[in-house]
Amino acid sequence: MTAISMLPHLSKATLPPARLYIAGSWLDSSAEPIPHIHPATGESVFDAPNADAAAVDAAISAARVAFDEGPWPRLPGRDRAQYLRTIADLIRADAANLNMLLSLDNATPSSFVGFYQMGAEYPADLFDTYAGWVDKITGNTYPQWEASQPFTFTTHEPVGVAAIITPWNAPMSLFAQKLAPALAAGCTVVAKPSELSPLVSLRIAELIAQADLPPGVFNMLLGPGDPVGTALVGDPRVDKVSFTGSRGIGSAIAATVGARIGRISLELGGKTPALIFPDADLGMAVGIAAGNAFLGLSGQVCVCQSRILVHRDVYDEVLSTLIGFAAAATFGDPFDPSVSAAPMITTQHMRRVLSHIERAVGDGAKLAVGGGRAENAAATGNFVAPTVLVNVDNSMAVAQEEIFGPVLCVIPFTEDDEAIRLANDTRYGLGAAVYTHDVSRALRVSGALRAGTIGVNSWTLQPHAPFGGMKQSGLGRENGQAGIEGYLETKTTFMR
Ligand code: NAD
Repeated sequence: MTAISMLPHLSKATLPPARLYIAGSWLDSSAEPIPHIHPATGESVFDAPNADAAAVDAAISAARVAFDEGPWPRLPGRDRAQYLRTIADLIRADAANLNMLLSLDNATPSSFVGFYQMGAEYPADLFDTYAGWVDKITGNTYPQWEASQPFTFTTHEPVGVAAIITPWNAPMSLFAQKLAPALAAGCTVVAKPSELSPLVSLRIAELIAQADLPPGVFNMLLGPGDPVGTALVGDPRVDKVSFTGSRGIGSAIAATVGARIGRISLELGGKTPALIFPDADLGMAVGIAAGNAFLGLSGQVCVCQSRILVHRDVYDEVLSTLIGFAAAATFGDPFDPSVSAAPMITTQHMRRVLSHIERAVGDGAKLAVGGGRAENAAATGNFVAPTVLVNVDNSMAVAQEEIFGPVLCVIPFTEDDEAIRLANDTRYGLGAAVYTHDVSRALRVSGALRAGTIGVNSWTLQPHAPFGGMKQSGLGRENGQAGIEGYLETKTTFMR
């Protein structure tokens, strides 16, 4: 096995300050920094700052003052839009460096960073597209309901101080999906990205600092979910919490924020089904589904197509193609262009994924391929072999729980309605994919699926189109007009 190291790559990158960004300044915290352990090598690559209680308080105070007394919510649209465009330009100019930091954070293979939604281009586009929304936050006027009614109109105002909490897997994209609309709406922000993606998060904060927003409009904390995230969401000075992460944490945050009738949006996990019909382009269907689960982030994506529902007529062909894909994944140094798959983000998460597989086998599932740690270039990395499970009943834990790793279960069906029933038989409703060339079937099946995002012979996420989940996959939508509406309150004025 070849030993690999991130240290030579680290020396080539422009590293951000290991400090917190509060009220327009970089500040230290008294809390012990957290060594960031690289998931492919086990090396400590960065000492990430860790917010103490005073830093959390200072960040919320700064955002509160900037909202209540500062210019930001009252800034003319043209000026606010210009700040967002500047941020977009700064991100684009630093794209190569940001992409490098992404691989240093979470081992995203460099071969995958070029995917639009993973690298720096997508977040830059989000700032541009929301710059365009600033001057489109318009209200309505209303005709008289009765003769004596005064002039009636609505305005949409920023919701206030927004706490933005994001996970580690696509740290630039998920952060921009929240920050760009929040700033466009006129909110002030305290961001708490994942402690597992500190480099790219702090570098984006550094770029935003260069855009010279009024102090306190944007603040960034880092540190663990508990106590940093909990302190942030529990603070009544925070008007809105926008969270992307796991269902359990989202539910706990919703309880805290709900108790004070705070505003909240949630982008949570999923158990996305891929419905493969016999008339589909099977190579494309398996390519998208297995690409999601086995390549790139190795299934550590919220919309991983982890339940393959396949028509019995094409079951054998689909299964053997999936097994071929699994065998083709390559592991090792994320900067090696021939490496196609990432390790699990932490050793603890790798153990969790492996225990899901063990439990599935204990429940009666059979391994078609994989099932353990991957043979790879780095003995120290958290690599899990792409795993395909068959003989799975949809009620088993492996078909119901989000695994967040390279684990697929394949379940056969005969009738369209059976496929729809299986697809909807989950508490999640983030995404669903339908593979068929029959337009009537595509419309009927996708119409019957209870999921917020449907791919028909395709799978994507775009800055201008709403994205989000039904059922326990979330609350609210990001991107496009729906995204900015999450940061606005409607005010109705009756004026005589
Ligand atoms: P996570 O829930 O463990 O953490 C997400 C963020 O919440 C991190 O910043 C973490 O520090 C913070 N956090 C943890 N506990 C907290 C608490 N009690 N209070 C406040 N903040 C807290 O998730 P993760 O492991 O980073 O990411 C994986 C999860 O995110 C998966 O479930 C995945 O499906 C989901 N996800 C969803 C989407 C989406 O758009 N729907 C996108 C990406 C990831």
